Amino acid sequence: MKNLVVIGYGGMGGGFHVKHALEDGVVNLLGIYDIDPEKQRKAETNGIYSYSSLDEVLADERVDICTVAIPNDSHLETVVKCLEAGKNVICEKPVALSCTDLQKMFDAADKSGKLFSVHQNRRWDVDYLAMREIYNSGAVGEVFDIESRIHGSRGIPSDWRCLKAHGGGMILDWGVHLIDQILQIVPEKIKSVYCELDNITTKEVDDGFKLHLLFENGCRAHIEVGTYNFISMPRFYMRGKKGSAMITDWRENAKIVECTHWHESEVLPVEHAAGLTKTMAPRDDVTTRTYEWTRPVADVYDYYRNFVRAIDGEEELLVTHPQMMRVMRVMEAAFESGEKNKVIDFE
Ligand code: NAD
Repeated sequence: MKNLVVIGYGGMGGGFHVKHALEDGVVNLLGIYDIDPEKQRKAETNGIYSYSSLDEVLADERVDICTVAIPNDSHLETVVKCLEAGKNVICEKPVALSCTDLQKMFDAADKSGKLFSVHQNRRWDVDYLAMREIYNSGAVGEVFDIESRIHGSRGIPSDWRCLKAHGGGMILDWGVHLIDQILQIVPEKIKSVYCELDNITTKEVDDGFKLHLLFENGCRAHIEVGTYNFISMPRFYMRGKKGSAMITDWRENAKIVECTHWHESEVLPVEHAAGLTKTMAPRDDVTTRTYEWTRPVADVYDYYRNFVRAIDGEEELLVTHPQMMRVMRVMEAAFESGEKNKVIDFE
């Protein structure tokens, strides 16, 4: 079994990587390293070996994998050190703060010949997987529009995530997940990127955003993260030439309304608000079929299973360097668009 050290014993390091390593039996946890002595003591209290320095981790020849789960601005230095010491590296998202930094990480990985990937764990979200299945199945026909949203109401967390110097803000925090998911759903080239940034609770970083991607096949994606929404909008909404699909909440199945007959024999006008309309009158259930799309089963720890098999040359990495760079490029374009208020030509 491959030996793992988790660097950073905070929310994600302790709450996810250490927990899964101990529970899932895929990797063997050697210990953790955290820069904060209090976190080191906490790990020891929990019966986990705590390395006294990063150098101690890097000098330990038993270590096969370092998982880096520390604030975003520290990823570059730590990832490069781990790769240079000959360790395989999993880095938390967002892997880097710029394409230039990401390229430095790739160069270090190439030089060391070790594996390097980013923990895009939300590729195992079953709501996203259901939407990807619907897209690929043709259940709603050729898709021309996808909306992916996540809404909270507490503003941006008041830790390092609200500070620009630490790589804070919602594009880097949640955007990275939703962008990665959309790029996994729609394989087409991106034509243009337009983004509007929110600064509702702080001016320091974006505390939400609305991002529009236009793909070369004409499909559009709208990605939205909000932290000041007291009513949430649907998690996913998809329109295709044969119907529409929606997931209202990430705990629920997708609902599909398929248009079985385009032409209706008779449309009765309805009275809405202060007017009368046929255009917006609801369709009857003779010309449509409504059903639920059962969500697939997924196990997020398949990310680690894949990484371990890839070290042994048994599988290709699921989260590849070109995919990581593409997501980073979209995030950079989103910042540029938001700051200049203009549409950015992409590929
Ligand atoms: P956190 O603040 O809870 O924990 C970070 C820990 O890193 C702290 O214990 C801190 O003392 C330690 N640390 C800081 N600098 C260090 C260094 N140079 N070396 C060693 N330890 C250091 O933060 P978090 O929520 O755990 O986030 C950590 C990373 O995980 C971030 O990149 C974040 O974006 C990512 N994250 C990913 C997900 C996900 O779903 N994939 C969810 C939450 C956070």
